[in-house]
Amino acid sequence: MFHKILIANRGEIAVRIIRACMQEGIETVAVYSTADKDALHVQLADEAVCIGGPSSIDSYLNMENIISAAVNCGVDAIHPGFGFLSENTKFANLCSECGIVFIGPSAEVISKMGNKSMAREIMISAGVPVVPGSDGAVESVYAGIIIAKEIGYPVLIKASAGGGGRGMRVAENENEFKSAFETAQLEAKNAFGDDTMYIEKFVLSPKHIEFQILADKYGNVVHLGERDCSIQRRNQKVIEEAPCGLISDALRQRMGEAAIKAAKFSNYENAGTIEFLLSGEDFYFIEMNTRIQVEHPVTEMITGIDIVKEQIKIAAGKKLSFNQEDVTFTGHSIECRINAENPRLNFRPSPGTVDLIHIPGGFGIRFDSALYQGYSIPPYYDSMAGKLIVHAENRRSAIMKMRSAIEEIIIEGIETNLSFNYAILHSREFVEGKFNTGFVEKNLSKLLETNL
Ligand code: ADP
Ligand code: ADP
Ligand code: MG
Repeated sequence: MFHKILIANRGEIAVRIIRACMQEGIETVAVYSTADKDALHVQLADEAVCIGGPSSIDSYLNMENIISAAVNCGVDAIHPGFGFLSENTKFANLCSECGIVFIGPSAEVISKMGNKSMAREIMISAGVPVVPGSDGAVESVYAGIIIAKEIGYPVLIKASAGGGGRGMRVAENENEFKSAFETAQLEAKNAFGDDTMYIEKFVLSPKHIEFQILADKYGNVVHLGERDCSIQRRNQKVIEEAPCGLISDALRQRMGEAAIKAAKFSNYENAGTIEFLLSGEDFYFIEMNTRIQVEHPVTEMITGIDIVKEQIKIAAGKKLSFNQEDVTFTGHSIECRINAENPRLNFRPSPGTVDLIHIPGGFGIRFDSALYQGYSIPPYYDSMAGKLIVHAENRRSAIMKMRSAIEEIIIEGIETNLSFNYAILHSREFVEGKFNTGFVEKNLSKLLETNL
C-alpha cells in the first residue's frame, strides 16, 4: 500500500480524498495556491506546499510545481480529483516518468476515452450504442452543415475536449448552424485550449443515466449501478440520485453490461463513469469520465463501497475484493450540489466569507464540503462549495430527508442555490420521478420564486 499521497486538487474533493487517506493510515500532502492558504484541505493534510498564484494556470494546473512538490515530499502517488489535471494525458505521463503512481487510468486510456469524439468511435467498434452523429471530428462549418443534414436537425455541436457542460450548442436548423458552431468552438478554445468539434443528433427530452465502473489491473470489472443525473442547468448537474426510479431490473442489467463492455474494450483501469442518454427503453453512450465524479457519494450510500478508497487500492495494485454478484443496492440516495451563487442574478457566483454555518446531521445525512465558519471562498475557482447527501429506505423518504436537511442547514454571508434545490425537491414532476434533462429550463421561473 502507499505510504504518502499528494492530492492535486482543492475544495471539497481534496478534503474527501484526504479523509479517505487518513482512515487508511496514509500520509497526505496538500498543494495550494496563494489564494487558498487558509483552505480546509491545507489544514487537514499532514503537509502542504504552495504551488503558485491564485489563477489555476499558475497553481492547480501547474504540472511542474505539482510534480516538484511530489518529488520533494517523497510521495508514492498523486490523486488528481476531478477537473484540473484529472483527465490530462501529459500529467499522467509526467507522473509515471517521475516514478509516481497517477491514481487513475493509464495516460493512453485517458487520451483515448477522455477525448469525446474518439471515445465515440471506440464505443462504435465495441458495439455499444452511441447517439447518431459524425464519424470523428468535424473539420469546418461547411463539413458540419453537410453532416448535420444527414443526421437530421436538431443537432448538438460538441467539443471533443468538453466538460462541465461547456463547449456545446444546439442548432435547430441549417440557418442556426454556423453561429452555433462558431460559438461552441470559441467557448471550447477558451475553456479547454482545444477547438476540435463533433456533432450528435440532439436527443429530445432524454434522461441522463450513468454507470459507475471499477476496474482493477487484472481485468476484473464491476459496475456499481446507475445514477440519474437528469436535473441539470445548462448541461451541468445540480441534483443526482441513485438508483433511477424508472429503470427496470432488465434495463439496468442491459445498461450495466454495456458499461462493462465499454470499460473492458478500452482496457480501463480504476474508477470511471460511462454516461448514457436514455430515451424510453433506448440508451446511447455520450461520454466516459476517466476520473472520480462529483456525484460519486450517492453510489457509495446505496452500495456501501467507498469509491475513493477503491481507487487508491486499485492504483496500489490490489485486486478487487468483490465481484458483480457481491454488489447489492440498499435504499435510495440523493445529492444536492451547493453552489456559492445567486440563482436570482442568473446564478452569478457569490464568493465571500461564510459568517455562519450550521450543518445538519443525523441518520443518513452526509455533508461533503470544504466550508467552515469564517472561511472566505475565493473568487478564482468553481462555485461548487459542498454537497449535501442523504440516504433513506426509499425515494420518497430520501426526498423528505433532503427537504428537512435543507430546512435545517444555515450558510450565511454568501448566496447559495439552497432554496433553488429546495424548490426542485417540492416540484410535483420531481417527486413523481417524471423528469428529464429539460426539467430545470422548463420550470426555471417557477423554481426561482420559492423562498426557504
Ligand atoms: P461530473 O462529470 O463529475 O458530474 P462536472 O461535469 O460537474 O462533473 O465537472 C466536475 C468539475 O470538473 C467541474 O469543476 C468542472 O468545471 C470540471 N471539469 C469537468 N470536465 C472538465 C474538463 N474537460 N476540463 C476542465 N474542467 C473540467
Ligand atoms: P460534459 O462533458 O460537459 O459533461 P456531456 O457530453 O456529458 O458533456 O453532456 C452533458 C449534458 O448535455 C448531458 O448530460 C445531456 O443533458 C446533454 N447532452 C449531451 N449530449 C446530448 C445529446 N446528443 N442530445 C441531448 N442532450 C445531450
Ligand atoms: Mg458528462
